[in-house]
Amino acid sequence: MKLSGKVAVVTGGSRGLGKAMVLRLAREGASVAIVYASDEASAKQTQAEAEAFGVTARTYRCDVADPDRTAQTVKSVTTDLGPVDVLVNNAGIIRDGLAASIREEDFDAVINTNLKGAFHMIKSCYFGFIRRRSGSIINISSVAGVFGSAGQANYASAKAGLIGLTKTIAKELAERNVRCNAIAPGIIATDMTEDMVDDPKRLDPIPMRRFGRAEEVAGLVAFLASDESSYITGEVIRVDGGMAM
Ligand code: NDP
Repeated sequence: MKLSGKVAVVTGGSRGLGKAMVLRLAREGASVAIVYASDEASAKQTQAEAEAFGVTARTYRCDVADPDRTAQTVKSVTTDLGPVDVLVNNAGIIRDGLAASIREEDFDAVINTNLKGAFHMIKSCYFGFIRRRSGSIINISSVAGVFGSAGQANYASAKAGLIGLTKTIAKELAERNVRCNAIAPGIIATDMTEDMVDDPKRLDPIPMRRFGRAEEVAGLVAFLASDESSYITGEVIRVDGGMAM
């Protein structure tokens, strides 16, 4: 098992892509911290499924947009499971609309959760990673952040920002053997995309002519979390069936 003895934190780990990541990391032997916003039932269900792999899993209710809560949460994870080895910044929301109609509060909510949330989590883990001279940070961006997305000015800005954050953190921490990479998924079937995946027109820009599965992103997370990717940092990897090439 690639990750036995490691401690992984997955934000937005209760549902969708995050749940698939939690289960994949658990299958590889990692202890997992499932960070979620409000859906406790889903978080507990994911915890039970992760524990079925024989690892320790814990749930943490934490709004990643709140820096005090992220700091507290990382402290609790360290006490409960041990120092963090792998941080997956996956929590995200959408508040779509054409740029002229997006309300200020909806622009801010998306930036605060999707971009600043990742920043707060990284800050909360930063010195722990440095002290231990190891760590892997994985930020879940999007093809929207790579090539834009009409109707998603807030979301695409946050996801493009995550790419800048990824490369910056990679440069700051490379010498300390701490890696930071981003994944840019295309359209993956989850609660977030339930309206999209019912629309066959959405397949038109996808060369592979199908939507992605959460497990297809989770496999890459496990690779980037493991020592098998030990010389990869500052990279942005698309998992999109060829959509953004
Ligand atoms: P879902 O809506 O299915 O799940 C979102 C997860 O994020 C939930 O676990 C939710 O917690 C959590 N979350 C939301 N806001 C916060 C917050 N403020 N603090 C902590 N946790 C929070 O989304 P997906 O699984 O589809 O998406 C996961 C990530 O992947 C997102 O960043 C998304 O932008 C990105 N992505 C998704 C794509 C797709 O096609 N699905 C494509 C490209 C990128 P709770 O359960 O408590 O609500």
